[in-house]
Amino acid sequence: MHPSLRCLQRLPRAKSTSFIGLGRMGSEMAYNLFSKQFAKAPDSQFVVCDAVPESAQAFRDNFLSNFPGANMEVAHTPVQAAVASRTIVTMLPSSPHVKEVYSGSIIPSLQKLPSEDITQTLCIDSTTLDVDVARAVASEINAIGALMVDAPVSGGVAGAKAGTLSFLVGGTEQSFKLSEQILASMGQRIIHCGPSGAGLGAKICNNLALGVQQIVIAEAMLLGQKLGLDPSVLAAVINSSTGGCWASSVNNPVPGCLPGKSPPSERDYQGGFVTALMLKDMGLATEIGKKHKCPLPLGEAAESVYAESIRTKPDLAAKDFSSVYKYLKGRAGQ
Ligand code: NAD
Repeated sequence: MHPSLRCLQRLPRAKSTSFIGLGRMGSEMAYNLFSKQFAKAPDSQFVVCDAVPESAQAFRDNFLSNFPGANMEVAHTPVQAAVASRTIVTMLPSSPHVKEVYSGSIIPSLQKLPSEDITQTLCIDSTTLDVDVARAVASEINAIGALMVDAPVSGGVAGAKAGTLSFLVGGTEQSFKLSEQILASMGQRIIHCGPSGAGLGAKICNNLALGVQQIVIAEAMLLGQKLGLDPSVLAAVINSSTGGCWASSVNNPVPGCLPGKSPPSERDYQGGFVTALMLKDMGLATEIGKKHKCPLPLGEAAESVYAESIRTKPDLAAKDFSSVYKYLKGRAGQ
């Protein structure tokens, strides 16, 4: 049963946390956050919201079946979620969604609250989005007197489920301190990267390096096989030599060449970090590179390789980005 706006407004904001965006990452993160908050303070209030109301309802049903005494409401809209809680966490797809949810819903609804409620509000956005958009939204939030951090994550769906994410945080010292204990319920490493936008800057630079490395490892593994090398031997050589990196030692794109490990390549590239999201992140890097006149020749090349892999094999969009190896194999006529 959905609550009315008036019912959500009656929730004590201080004890309430709202989570907006219950997709692959958000649902796991919210589960960890709320279960830990519930264990510490069983009178906590939880509010969940998603553009697909069935997702929020399914989350609530599942949570309440495991924590029957918990107070959890489904908000129809981000407006309802914002008025209900002092702490608002968002995990949305990208820049347009963050702009719409904050500038179109959260900020106007906070502005209608008494000023002491506004100043005690903390917004945590864990979306991976454009740094400039994130900074603009944070300064709108700060302008009305509330606090905000950008806190994108590294660690993927498995890390979100296990509660082992790394959070890369951008914001003032005060907002970082307030967000730290909330983020610690969802992750293992909480790193203050600098002022507003710095968390996203760090996240985008990391994924730029990762996206390029995954392609070159796929290239090396393919070339090695063309030269007659056993892929397991080649992987062992790279992983104990100067070419070794996460893309080769943990996420190797060739099935069966990491004994004792189970990368997505062993499950036809299911699970992991999907190519569509990696393409989005490469686009964020190349766009910000252009704006800052920073040459990114490998980043631009990698962006077009991922785009081309999805164009020629659309099913790769929803597979782990190490499936770029499959695309290169196709180009090699294999
Ligand atoms: P997702 O598409 O599964 O989830 C996004 C959720 O936001 C969906 O449930 C969607 O319905 C909801 N949503 C969209 N617009 C909304 C609105 N206006 N109001 C309320 N809800 C709305 O995406 P995801 O995989 O969970 O990724 C979320 C973010 O995390 C992205 O920015 C992504 O780049 C980043 N990220 C993802 C991974 C990963 O492995 N999936 C890893 C690291 C970072």
